[in-house]
Amino acid sequence: MADYCASDSFMFCSSCGTKNEDNATFCVNCGVSLSASAPTARTTAPGQKNAILATILNFLFPGIGYWYWGYRKVATISPVLLFIAVAVLEFVIWNYLSYSTLISLLISAFFAYDLYVKTTGQRGWIEATK
Ligand SMILES: [Zn+2]
Repeated sequence: MADYCASDSFMFCSSCGTKNEDNATFCVNCGVSLSASAPTARTTAPGQKNAILATILNFLFPGIGYWYWGYRKVATISPVLLFIAVAVLEFVIWNYLSYSTLISLLISAFFAYDLYVKTTGQRGWIEATK
């Protein structure tokens, strides 16, 4: 009759405080990751990567900066594919538009700033997954 409390080991969500099973991977209330190794260290990337270098990389080669920072997918495609897509897009712009420099610069600046925002631990504008 007393097997309702089969497990008496619990952990509390570091984000919302909800009681979760000790072996839970994600919080049942807010869905935040409960893996023991990553409670609050969201601003530090694995291997202490340089945020400024990542930003500059993404400015020069949009997509490669995401790859450097360790994102597996950006806007549901791999960072390398994103780099190729942006390179093709900029090639087309260069061939058909007279104000191509400005547009290419804006595209590069957009990706660079998006990655900079992501390296600070925020979401940015483009969906990306580790
Ligand atoms: Zn929670």
